[in-house]
Amino acid sequence: MTGYGIFSRPGEAPRAGYRVDESVHDVSNLIRGQTLDTFLGGGRSEWEETQARIDELIGSGSDPTPLHSVQLHMPFSVADYVDFYSSEEHATNLGKILRPGQEPLLPNWKHLPIGYHGRAGTVIVSGTDVKRPSGQRKPPDADTPTFGPTQRLDIELELGFVVGSPSMHGEPVSIDEALDHVFGAVLVNDWSARDIQAWEYQPLGPFLGKSFATSISPWVVPLSELPRIPRQPQEPEPLDYLRAEPWAYDIELEVVLNGETISSTNTRHLYWNIEQQVAHLTSNGASLRTGDLLASGTISGSDPGSFGSLIELTWNGERPLELADGSTRTFLEDGDEVTLHADLLGEVTGTIV
Ligand code: MN
Repeated sequence: MTGYGIFSRPGEAPRAGYRVDESVHDVSNLIRGQTLDTFLGGGRSEWEETQARIDELIGSGSDPTPLHSVQLHMPFSVADYVDFYSSEEHATNLGKILRPGQEPLLPNWKHLPIGYHGRAGTVIVSGTDVKRPSGQRKPPDADTPTFGPTQRLDIELELGFVVGSPSMHGEPVSIDEALDHVFGAVLVNDWSARDIQAWEYQPLGPFLGKSFATSISPWVVPLSELPRIPRQPQEPEPLDYLRAEPWAYDIELEVVLNGETISSTNTRHLYWNIEQQVAHLTSNGASLRTGDLLASGTISGSDPGSFGSLIELTWNGERPLELADGSTRTFLEDGDEVTLHADLLGEVTGTIV
């Protein structure tokens, strides 16, 4: 894999690096500063020019540092964080779990990419511990809520897109122009406290059950490195501003809990793609900013071994997962380490403390 990030060697300041498989090339003479922000904001011509110079640098025998010996940092300043809900299987599973006996997909789902604005300030880089959050919970059989540590701490396996070129406030970005604004992608673990979420989310949506931490992988992989496949036409056909040739990224993904793979899936399961998400997000005139993180929503396939969250993998805790060490899990326990992995994107890992 190849990607752009910020790394440091012992005793040195963080700087821009370009990862090629298990090596990191120092590209701080091409990308200045301790984040990728200026580079990202430069737009496609600057991205292509820089990539060409990096290719030259590597071709002329740049001396890379082994990946395992460097420390990795947040690659960019997260401007806004938006989380979509674009996997049909995930939305259907959650509908069945949360609203049993009703139509699992709400009537709007196939007409627009559902999403919410999340908390940019608590996006953290892979390797950062996640402190179990406390909050209000009210079990269904209790009369009143209590405050305390979440008992239902979950993961969400997502693909996150990183905006490079900003757009003008008041001017929607058309679906044809959407990809000009997106530099690349990272893996996202949208940690979720299901008990806090269940009590607080109506009627305005996710809030403190999500905002305590969101982890990203440290290497931003340019879109040009990610394979695409055509998709079935969407039915019903979307409105004009969301209409284009249907396609999806084709990226194998896995969820690893304490060293054991508990789910394998693929981004091809996403119903709405990033072009449609950008067109929808800006359709009211909201602007894109450099560093916006646009996450796909949990990615689940149709097979139970391909679900991207524990609430689905254990069906709301009713079917505990049996792990190789003989233990079982419904939701995460203290000390658990979760890693989301993709050969094309690297990994994002976090331990519950
Ligand atoms: Mn999410």
